[in-house]
Amino acid sequence: MSAPIGSPSREITDSGIWQAPLRAQFPIVTGHPDVTYLDSSATSQKPRAVLDAVQDYLTTSNANAGRGTYTWANHTTALIERARERVKTFLRDPDPERSEVHFTSGTTEGLRTVARDWLVPCLRDGDEIIVPFADHQANAAPWLEAQDLLARRGTAVTVREMPYEQDSRDYDQRALAALVNERTRFVAVTHVHHVYGADMNVHRVRDTVGPDVVICLDAAQSIGHKPVDMDALDVDFAVFSGHKTMALPGIGAVWARGERGPAFQPGGWSGSPNTTGIVSLHAALDWLENAGLDRIERWTVDLGVRLTDGLSRLGSYQVLGCPLSLTADSTVQRRQGIVTFRHRRISSNDLGFILASHGLMVRADGHCQGRAGERDTSVRVSLHIYNTPDDIDRLLDILAGLDRES
Ligand code: PMP
Repeated sequence: MSAPIGSPSREITDSGIWQAPLRAQFPIVTGHPDVTYLDSSATSQKPRAVLDAVQDYLTTSNANAGRGTYTWANHTTALIERARERVKTFLRDPDPERSEVHFTSGTTEGLRTVARDWLVPCLRDGDEIIVPFADHQANAAPWLEAQDLLARRGTAVTVREMPYEQDSRDYDQRALAALVNERTRFVAVTHVHHVYGADMNVHRVRDTVGPDVVICLDAAQSIGHKPVDMDALDVDFAVFSGHKTMALPGIGAVWARGERGPAFQPGGWSGSPNTTGIVSLHAALDWLENAGLDRIERWTVDLGVRLTDGLSRLGSYQVLGCPLSLTADSTVQRRQGIVTFRHRRISSNDLGFILASHGLMVRADGHCQGRAGERDTSVRVSLHIYNTPDDIDRLLDILAGLDRES
């Protein structure tokens, strides 16, 4: 059984011995003891190592890449190439000789790039693609835009809705299998759901759709939070944002396996690269791997369980998403460190303001879900390695006060 509010579970207390030194590496966290940042799914805080890497680059060898006859420019070009390789090793790329890493400004642009530069040239009249409309809209809009663009050129592509299980909000593999036919070329999926926190069953999608369908993974909420292994997942594209993985804003990456379909060749002239972003991304991936992605995952999942357990004891709150993940005893881990809920009488917007007045930073809105998403707004708490059981208890204390009052 779970521990009562205020008495940390043994697991969390024990592992806190290693967590405290990691937390101490986030100047914005240690510098603001009066506030609690609980919005890491929107963007993550940055460890000192990332800030230092950027400062070091800018004060020792800042130059533009790919154009130089001098050391700083050549150094910058080499940094970018090394960062590409780092993304591959971070993702446990099984065939780095063949794959590509393309830097973008983030997940939204990355998914758009896959749609515009890979999917549009590939699709033929009568082809079908499958789109997850209850996931983030960044993983729906680009595929619809591709369909529109093709339609204007006289190529009719059918977009099918990814089916979801009613209770778990996970992908419904059986219904998905029934959707796939010989015209299905492409399926877009999300690794960790940004509202429900569900660790979606993407590892099963390859078996469901067969060997030839191209799978594109939105890994915005999984990379940096848990080990992500391209070999095990057998997807063709993985897309993520640096700012959610402890790097600077304005950088992200598309990893492309390069096995199914034509090579991924992002088109167009993209101008000067975001060198500081790329430097920060490399440093962030190093930091995350050294910190230990298994440990980060366990820590944030435990904190999420502490929160869902606490909420389940308060009558006024409804947690959205998979019920199985509400207990620490769940044999299948179904929820990462993202917990989204509503108060039955207080609006989510008001709840956001009330929590902010107590120094608790959460996200309170509709969370940019696609058209099959929630109708009403909600409050999302999203956790990272710098959060603590105290953060959760502080939140639960205030939520408990609002439970009694209303
Ligand atoms: N996909 C998911 C699952 C997300 O959570 C987000 C950001 N909330 C995005 C895509 C878009 O990421 P970005 O704004 O960094 O492009």
